[in-house]
This record gives sequence, C-alpha cells and structure tokens, in this order.
Amino acid sequence: MAADATAACLACGAPTARVLDRVFDTRFGIDALFDIARCTACGLEQTAPMPAPGELGAYYAAHYNFGGESGTTYTGLRARFLESGLYRLWLALDGDISFHARPGRGRLLDIGCNEGRGLSLYARNGFAAVEGLETNPVAAAAARRRGFAVHGVELADFRPTEPYDVAVLSNVLEHALDPAVMLRDVARILKPSGEVWISCPNAASWLRGLFGRRWINWHVPFHIVHFTDATLTQTLERGGFATIERDQATPALWVAHSTIAAATAHQGRPTAALRKPLVVMALMALARGALFPLLWVANRSGRGDCLLRIARRAKRASSEADAPS
Ligand SMILES: [Zn+2]
Repeated sequence: MAADATAACLACGAPTARVLDRVFDTRFGIDALFDIARCTACGLEQTAPMPAPGELGAYYAAHYNFGGESGTTYTGLRARFLESGLYRLWLALDGDISFHARPGRGRLLDIGCNEGRGLSLYARNGFAAVEGLETNPVAAAAARRRGFAVHGVELADFRPTEPYDVAVLSNVLEHALDPAVMLRDVARILKPSGEVWISCPNAASWLRGLFGRRWINWHVPFHIVHFTDATLTQTLERGGFATIERDQATPALWVAHSTIAAATAHQGRPTAALRKPLVVMALMALARGALFPLLWVANRSGRGDCLLRIARRAKRASSEADAPS
C-alpha cells in the first residue's frame, strides 16, 4: 500500500487521506489489513481498500453464519433476561442502542433482524405490526418461528404491500457499501412521515483514541463507513431524511469488547475471549460500575461510542428519496 490517497470518497467523490493503517478484524480473525481513510472534502471516513461485493459476500458467508443456536443454557438465560424488567432497567442505565424499549405506533420493520430477538421486544412497545428483513435463511426461519413475518430479500429488492411507520437500522448502516443508497431504499418503503431509527458506532468516540487499531468498532472489512455525528447527518440528508432526535451511548458491552481486543486480539486469529460470557460480563460490570461518570460525560460531550438517531422522511421536493423504483 504505497500511496496515501487510497480511494475516492464514496459520498462526494473527493480524494481521501489515510488516517490509520494496518487495521485488522479483532473479532473473527480475518487475515487481512485495511486502512481507514478520511475524505478531504466532507470528512466521511471509510474502510480502504473497499472490499469488492463478492469478496464481502464471502466474508459474510464465513463469519455471519447464524447457525440456529437455541435450547442451550446460555440462550435460555439470555431469553429470560431480555424479557425481564431487569433488562429494561439495564437499558435505562446503559443506553438502548437497539431501541428495544422505545414506544411507537403502526408498522415497524427491523432491517437485518437476525433471529428475531429484537422483534419480540418491539412487539411489546405499542406497534400494530412488527416485521423483519433478513437475508440469512437460517436466521430468518428462526425469526419466523417466533411468529413474525420476515422477508428474506435484499432491501433494494424489497417491495412491501404496505408501507411502514418505522424502520430500524440497529448497527446496520455502517455495513452498507453505499449508506445513502440504503437510506433512499428505506425512505421508499416508509409512509410519508415515516421514521428511521439508527444506531451505529461513533468514529469520534474517546474509545477510538484510547484503543487505536484495536477499537472493536473498526470491524473491518464489515464496517465500510465510520460515521461521526456530522457525517451521519450529511448521509441522512443525502438519503432523504431529516434528523428529529439525536443521542449517544457507550454500551458497557462495547467497552468490554474493546478491552478484550486490546489485550488479546491477533491478526488472523479469532478473539476467543469475546465468546466467554463470564469474562465479558465481569468487564461490563466493571465498565458500568467504575467508569459510570466518565461514560456519562463522554456521551454528553459527543465522544460516546454509539450514535443514536431518529430521522423523519424528508418532504418530496427536497430530496431524491422518491426516485422511481
Ligand atoms: Zn466526501
């Protein structure tokens, strides 16, 4: 990787400059190095080189392969916890980054619903209908067994019979090869005043500075774009949305994961400790208990680890959101 100019900005086409090199996946052990490049014009940060769609598809097939795990002690305990009042209390303290406790009305679509754990929680929050979109057939089948309609197509090809009031993109938008295109597809399936509820890592997080290349949220090459509050706003506008609420959170789980990655991750080797519930939970308790004031200040000062955003479909005239489909 000789040149500093890595690629054109996927948002505006301006040149980018490398801000971090030799970043590797600290979760699954993918044996490849990437750079993080920042647009010299709009400031958007992206993974470089950008993986080709086919290459990315192979990575997903190998590593995001939900295999239908159920009926184990762990999944049983997890299900009971998620249904408990204790979980709601935890969300109030730690931050509700998947909108599991946010009330709403009408029709909700969870984009990338996986095996449907979120669907069960959204269904308790006032919606008349809760549906999912999931292209992994094993995960989609698991979500359907919970009693939900789950559409097994790509968002770009999805033509619902009835539009939605709310679309959830919980840690999904940063995976898109073109987030503005994804948002325009979301706008297309929403009612005129429909909302998108977004969470994604914050590339201006203080944990990015603390952990450097080992920050768990680089997650290259799965994370294509690394948003800040400002670049998320720009992307939403390009995608046909106007922000109506914004917040930040620093989940104790993410602090625990970055800590484990910093201590134990090696290029090309899966980080086994991320899969050890007792290690993770002990670190989460430590983060939530001991760092509470620090995390609170970080969230209030724009340096939290997760961006939370509620945005409404913009009016027809002001966007390309209604391009013919
Ligand atoms: Zn740009």
